[in-house]
Amino acid sequence: MNLKEFCNKYPEVVDDIQKVKRVYPMKLSEYYLGLIKEKGDAIWKQCIPDIKELEDSLNDEDPLLEEEYTPVPCLVHRYPDRVLLLASNKCAMYCRFCTRKRKVGKEVTITKEMISSAIDYIRQHKEVRDVIISGGDPLMLDDDILEWIIKGIREIKHVEIIRIGTRVPCTLPSRITPELVNMLKKYHPLFVNVHFEHPAEITEESKKACELLADAGIPLNNQAVLLKGVNDDVKVLKELFHKLIQIRVKPYYLYQADQVKGTEHFRTTIEEGIDIMHKMIGFTSGMCVPQFIVDAPGGGKIPLLPEYAQHRTEESLFLKNFEGKIVEYKNPLSIEVKKKSTSGRMRIAVVFNMKKEAAKNMPEDAYAEFDEITVPLAIKKALEKKGHVAELVEANESFVEKIKQGDYDFVFNIAEGLNSGARESQIPAILDMLGIPYTGSGVLTQAITLDKTRTKEILMYHGVPTPGYQLFNHWDEKISKNITFPLIIKPNAEGSSKGIRNNSLVNNEKELRKMVKFVVNNYKQAALAEEYLEGREFTVSIIGNNPPKVLPIVEITFDYLPSGVHKFDSYEVKWYWDNPTNPVDPVVCPAKIDDELRKKIEDVALRAYKALGIVDLCRMDMRLDKQGTPHVIDVNALPGLMPDPLENSRFPKACYTAGMSYEKIINTVLSEAMKRYGLPAETKRLKHASRNSV
Ligand SMILES: *Cc1c(COP(=O)(O)O)cnc(C)c1O
Ligand code: SF4
Repeated sequence: MNLKEFCNKYPEVVDDIQKVKRVYPMKLSEYYLGLIKEKGDAIWKQCIPDIKELEDSLNDEDPLLEEEYTPVPCLVHRYPDRVLLLASNKCAMYCRFCTRKRKVGKEVTITKEMISSAIDYIRQHKEVRDVIISGGDPLMLDDDILEWIIKGIREIKHVEIIRIGTRVPCTLPSRITPELVNMLKKYHPLFVNVHFEHPAEITEESKKACELLADAGIPLNNQAVLLKGVNDDVKVLKELFHKLIQIRVKPYYLYQADQVKGTEHFRTTIEEGIDIMHKMIGFTSGMCVPQFIVDAPGGGKIPLLPEYAQHRTEESLFLKNFEGKIVEYKNPLSIEVKKKSTSGRMRIAVVFNMKKEAAKNMPEDAYAEFDEITVPLAIKKALEKKGHVAELVEANESFVEKIKQGDYDFVFNIAEGLNSGARESQIPAILDMLGIPYTGSGVLTQAITLDKTRTKEILMYHGVPTPGYQLFNHWDEKISKNITFPLIIKPNAEGSSKGIRNNSLVNNEKELRKMVKFVVNNYKQAALAEEYLEGREFTVSIIGNNPPKVLPIVEITFDYLPSGVHKFDSYEVKWYWDNPTNPVDPVVCPAKIDDELRKKIEDVALRAYKALGIVDLCRMDMRLDKQGTPHVIDVNALPGLMPDPLENSRFPKACYTAGMSYEKIINTVLSEAMKRYGLPAETKRLKHASRNSV
């Protein structure tokens, strides 16, 4: 298609084209015009003038300040060891988004003398080891003039490599002739940087042009610009990069569009660019992924990446991989961990256990109760907002050393501990020993509440209702006459519905024996058989101490479950059905209950809280029996604190319903703990203050 045919086909745009042409020249090849499939497509947008070019009064003509870095005409020396030689101001086509829109196609001639003096400049500047011949498009020059330039540069000893920047293989592929490549290959090492924007530009013709160059031993790289409406889509860009690599062109840069006058309608936000990179990196060959570059005014090229680093301590870096999984990279053990100066602010360690993938020989929920790194990070942020200094400390084997070295005034404890049945008491025990105050319940309470049988014994002693039970250490123990089926079989010392499956509800001895075996074998602990209550289920959260405050009650509904899935909090229900993608919200807060029931539930909760010696915060699960009496079925002195409301973490949910923000929740728990230790709220540095000020 030639331009005349084009104008006949689209007469409605001719007027606008005429207007724009007077300001910004228009030119294209019949070849490129022929790639247009329909009005306004990606090819059209790149080559057909748009009236919007004239409506842009905001942007700069020379946003990269190239003129400031032009020591001699036609040469830009912006970076220490490389220069840009503008050898021509003509192109095979005038791209509507061109960064050098102010220059290309204008009636300023670049003379031989100008180029000679630019080459002289390179000769005199020994630091220049890389010369980029660009323009406009240097391949618009005749072969003999081009050769004269390349030869002149090649003769300079300190110039190591020559690059040619050209869009001709894309916009006028017939310009790449055997004669041209035979000339170019005499001046190796010589690179060609091409400029494709859209997969529709990779045709038989452009493929042939690139292959001619590649066959002459010329490495090819592509520089693309992210353009709204042209290629601002991960699918389009992936296809482009995949096609490029097949014609031996390596995607080199993807540029954020510059703030050039007349090109505003092509610009995207930087976030869109980063998002596209995020969806590309790791999902396709690294060979196909260019670097994303922003050429900010005066700043030069600045690479941008999605945020992979999540949290840095002196010991390690927590990283998010392309799939969103958090991993830890540890620094060499030899580095000295320096203490930060924290004059006047309280230093708080957020102590946690990291969620890990369950190893092959473990049940899939082996680490169900551990936290994602997002939880300690959110707690840290909440504490920092209050003016404290907060650091993450993982409760692993090197915990004692780390906590001693860290010189902390207080610990925000969410660690579940490791290995044993009393693991939740490990961190409190160590902290008690070292004399470091901490949030949440102490050693005895943490050890007891993790043990369901001991918890029930204490509750029963204090007259707090809890279902009848029997503890099985072995699958073949005699069944007590005091308990009645149906029973629910759980590991004796776990939280987060760990070890409770849909078939944990048993109706007869045979089923009971089978599930006891499952628990004893897989969780290496005794199994609790507890009488099953069929009534409604509630979760009660309590915060504070004097007096403790019952937060809005949560009801867990099970009505939405398909038949065959039992109506209790099994692992399947909690982690498969109750997740942000489930359209039914099974966690109702505040629960729809009358005042009488609410008072009953609150009373039971507070009595249990007191009987078990819980402090600061806790979450309890309850179920109603046939008479409507609430029974405590589980007590969690280390409730989950996932910040994202969509995660339905129950303790935060109750707090949110009470009008508290996440920051408020965390700092309330902290201040309640501080009060217990007799510390005023404005406490800054504690016992180590004097040591630090030396
Ligand atoms: C882009 C550019 C270069 C080359 O930069 P690389 O990152 O080495 O590709 C050199 N000079 C100027 C003025 C440039 O804009
Ligand atoms: S080929 Fe390059 S220099 Fe020429 S108009 Fe297109 S983008 Fe601008």
